[in-house]
Amino acid sequence: MAEIKSLCVYCSASNSVDESYLLAAKDFGRSIANAGITTVFGAGSVGLMGAVANGALEKGGKVIGVIPEHLERRELGHRGVGEYLVVSSMHARKQVMFERSDAFCILPGGLGTLDEAFEVITWRQLRLHDKPIYLLNINNFWAPLLSLIEHLAKERFLHDDPSNLFHVVADGPELIAALAAAPSPRFEADASLL
Ligand code: AMP
Repeated sequence: MAEIKSLCVYCSASNSVDESYLLAAKDFGRSIANAGITTVFGAGSVGLMGAVANGALEKGGKVIGVIPEHLERRELGHRGVGEYLVVSSMHARKQVMFERSDAFCILPGGLGTLDEAFEVITWRQLRLHDKPIYLLNINNFWAPLLSLIEHLAKERFLHDDPSNLFHVVADGPELIAALAAAPSPRFEADASLL
């Protein structure tokens, strides 16, 4: 079994969403820290990103934030985290987040979250890595996306069974249990190919 020491969290940078999403994200951050796992995130203080980080910090968890310099003001860079890494571009952010993480999870989010999610899922589809990816389906938020993916599979536009690419979990405790049982990657990722 793999020892998952760090989990990358992709999620919303919006403060306008219903408070229930922010509370669920904060609680999820607490669960990651309680499991002794490092949180890797986009280093914003805004939206679910800030909530996850603050939940993890509240429980004494290690948190690594990665932010492009040009977004520091817009996303209110969270300098209270253990490691605050400023990079030069969006691509550098994705690459560093990838390199620092043993697994990935996708919480409710908008277009930026979808971009990050599909990048890491399609890298897996291209066999560029074998790290596990989890879609956290809080309140069935991702049901429309899952329907679309089913449609793609039915019409034979997918190269893989989606269950080989990512796992759907209902909540934080289910995700933490899945991480504990995750198989070791079958090969090492080569980040120079990303
Ligand atoms: P959103 O889901 O739109 O609230 O965005 C969540 C996070 O994704 C924010 O930190 C954005 O900076 C980031 N993001 C937005 N677009 C991209 C992109 N093309 N590549 C990488 N990250 C992005």
